[in-house]
Amino acid sequence: MLRFLLHYGIHILVPIAVGLLFYKDKKIWIILILLSGILIDIDHLIANPIFDPGRCSINFHPLHSSWAIVIYILLFLYKYTRIIGLALLIHIFADSIDCYFLLSEAN
Ligand SMILES: [Zn+2]
Repeated sequence: MLRFLLHYGIHILVPIAVGLLFYKDKKIWIILILLSGILIDIDHLIANPIFDPGRCSINFHPLHSSWAIVIYILLFLYKYTRIIGLALLIHIFADSIDCYFLLSEAN
């Protein structure tokens, strides 16, 4: 339950917090863009099964692989795509926390 709350908490609360704290003038747009980072979970649709609570997304799904993460970091470093990169990195961060919980449960 803690794992579930933490995962969706990061997916939803971190984008809102970042928007409110760092982007005073256009925060609504920033928050919406950051929240849309959750969309990369569409790659779960090509996985079998689509949803498996015991599976770690990182390095399993194509949009959660190491090379995808490198691209997200590059997007973040480049000024004009920074917010998109940030949205994707927050997503990866949320999923990593989830994987961490999976690992600690397994041991
Ligand atoms: Zn994900």
